[in-house]
Amino acid sequence: MTPLVDTHCHLADSRLDAELDGVLARAEQAGIAKIVAVGAIGTIETDRRTLEIAEHYPHIFAAIGVHPHDAKNCTTDRITQLRALARSKKVVAIGESGLDFHYLHSPVEEQERSLRQHLTLASELDKPIVIHCRDAEARLAAIVREEGLPAAGGVIHCFTGDAKAAEAFLGLGFLISFSGIVTFKNAGGLREAARVVPDHRVLVETDAPYLAPEPHRGRRNEPALVRCTLEVLAELRRADFDGLAAAIAKNASRLFRIAA
Ligand SMILES: [Zn+2]
Ligand SMILES: [Zn+2]
Repeated sequence: MTPLVDTHCHLADSRLDAELDGVLARAEQAGIAKIVAVGAIGTIETDRRTLEIAEHYPHIFAAIGVHPHDAKNCTTDRITQLRALARSKKVVAIGESGLDFHYLHSPVEEQERSLRQHLTLASELDKPIVIHCRDAEARLAAIVREEGLPAAGGVIHCFTGDAKAAEAFLGLGFLISFSGIVTFKNAGGLREAARVVPDHRVLVETDAPYLAPEPHRGRRNEPALVRCTLEVLAELRRADFDGLAAAIAKNASRLFRIAA
């Protein structure tokens, strides 16, 4: 069985953390060899717990940051705390940061300020950036063009744009990560985007506990289900499942600098 990677999930979320042993056992059975766990949602305690999990399991790695929903809480102090946590070798990326103009849980100006802080921090620490972008593709691209993508690169996680947006982000140097949304039959533009991203720039993720792929839609998501998304992705790209899985594992190793 080709080893799979879940490049983005939230293991510190209480819905997963409460039964972490079971979640990880099912992931192992499903062939998930590596997991990148993202903190970022809520307070710094989410990042701390995420890192604690990553330090406990050799195959789990951490990304830390402030989610755009919480951008209004991204103070200088918070950045200092993140910088301190990032001393751990298990922190492989900064994020998720970005822009979410769909929900606007934080005002636009705060989201943009936080995004710029994260890009600077990632460059300073020489780590890739994990970007969340919802209904803000053009603005996000403009800010990255101004600030520059960190030398270590970055990923647009849970990509929901169309082929044109995918091409713009590829042009900026990003990898593109697809989540369970690509398995939804009504995701027309996104499904087209899934065909244009080249093999060496594509990633896959669950974003668990959110966004369970078909046929689990509406239920709690977990890393084991990344297989369902990968199956649809392979179908859309008319690719062989194992070949695509291997390409994605290689891309994840390269971006996050984790052994293949
Ligand atoms: Zn996100
Ligand atoms: Zn996420």
